Amino acid sequence: MNSNKKGLNTICTHVGELEDKQHRGAVSPLYMSTSYAYEDVDVKRYPRYFNTPNQEGLCKKVAALEHTESALIFGSGMAAVSTALLAFLNAGDHVVLQQTLYGGTYNLVNEEFSKYGIEYSFTIGWQADAFEAQIKENTKVIYIETPSNPLLTITDLEAVAAIAKKHGIITLIDNTFASPVNQNPVDFGIDVVIHSATKYMGGHSDICAGAVASTTENMERIFHLAKNFGGSLSDYTVWLLERSMKTMGIRVRAQNENAMAMAHFLDGLADIEKVYYPGLPTHPDHDIAKKQMKGFGGMLSFELNANLNSSQFQKALQLIKPSMSLAGVESTVLSPTQTSHALMSAEVRAEQGIADGLIRFSVGIEEVEDLKQDILQAIAQIK
Ligand SMILES: *Cc1c(COP(=O)(O)O)cnc(C)c1O
Repeated sequence: MNSNKKGLNTICTHVGELEDKQHRGAVSPLYMSTSYAYEDVDVKRYPRYFNTPNQEGLCKKVAALEHTESALIFGSGMAAVSTALLAFLNAGDHVVLQQTLYGGTYNLVNEEFSKYGIEYSFTIGWQADAFEAQIKENTKVIYIETPSNPLLTITDLEAVAAIAKKHGIITLIDNTFASPVNQNPVDFGIDVVIHSATKYMGGHSDICAGAVASTTENMERIFHLAKNFGGSLSDYTVWLLERSMKTMGIRVRAQNENAMAMAHFLDGLADIEKVYYPGLPTHPDHDIAKKQMKGFGGMLSFELNANLNSSQFQKALQLIKPSMSLAGVESTVLSPTQTSHALMSAEVRAEQGIADGLIRFSVGIEEVEDLKQDILQAIAQIK
């Protein structure tokens, strides 16, 4: 089944599936070959050319989900990010990046780009005009991440795309936090969509992978670098990821619902100082989120009142696990100050609004009543 016109869950379940002609099994066969025939064939296949049967099948699913012509699957989110960025940047070029970026992306830019002679600037804030303010004569790429980590700020995709088009600049987005279920950036004029498939696409905290989706022309350019960098994903993991993505629509929609319920619940608790969730009408970017997102996602953040210790709170949780990563079916929490943003100075964290007591909450698919009870009992324990 190849149509992009089908509904979300049909795409998740069927697009790109491989037919088992030999035994007529219900699921895609797994082709582990690293060596394929070269005579009398249309395509010379090799895993690092990103064109084994399983890779090709899964790429079709990702492209259909992101409303693009083409896609590639990578060995990690960072393989996807680095390959996509460097495909559009040469020595002497300049890139404008959002101030609040995934830590790995920030490190890639900060630690590697000067080696390649690539200039870069970070925005101050996340609004569209903050991107325009950093544009220079040699700016070739604008790089966005929305919703952002960990404060869930929302950048106006349509507005940034319009600014970029006016200046002839290509736009890249890290769409990981939204997932293709909640946000399709190309519908708003963004050119290249990147995912850490380790998160919602995998969804079970057991796969590390990445994805990039765009036009055939852009993907050709990315492929050229991709085969030289060699960041392809093993076919066994490709096959597992295909299986995981069959349930992505229902998983993420359940996570949207739970996160919305938990955001309202936390917002109503006297022991919680602040809740950051784009689905709350009180979120400063709620209107932009409503315009460009189909669901508000499974990620939220909150601050306990100053008299409550956030690390004691995390230890007191029984069902929700303190855990580094996010987006699995199980609910997890994380302290940005202790983990993802630990290397940042306290001043820079404060400047970006990341309080020491901030807790990032990746809401899973458990019964929402059980999640509420866990929060209440943890607060009671540490009071
Ligand atoms: C995890 C993550 C990445 C990096 O993905 P890996 O699969 O860990 O390489 C990039 N962007 C965002 C927003 C992420 O959450």
